[in-house]
Amino acid sequence: MHELSIAQNLVELAEEEARRRGWARVCAVHVRLGVLAGVVKEALSFCFDIAAAGTPVEGARLVIEEVAVEVFCPRCQQPRRLPEPLPMACPECGTRTAEILRGRELELFALEGEEGEGVGTPDR
Ligand SMILES: [Zn+2]
Repeated sequence: MHELSIAQNLVELAEEEARRRGWARVCAVHVRLGVLAGVVKEALSFCFDIAAAGTPVEGARLVIEEVAVEVFCPRCQQPRRLPEPLPMACPECGTRTAEILRGRELELFALEGEEGEGVGTPDR
């Protein structure tokens, strides 16, 4: 299940950042997930809990913000947000386009943590 390796990666990133900030534990991990990223949200949440077990990230909430597909319409010369991932065509003029601007990302963009007896050796 590739969600598990993604989840492990997120947990590692969060753990590293917690150590850097001198946090005792991570309370929440916020990620942006594009609807075209090929990741099942529920599976990712499930795997996250497994990956976080036994780490300072254990028990943290995984907050997933879904990112809609945004394409560039060659006719309107405008970025357009699609209400649905398919069809990949401009919602204004109907021109088909394969130029995807957003919707494939999977990124950790914010963390919430608790200070306390640091994780490992905080560097401050
Ligand atoms: Zn258009």
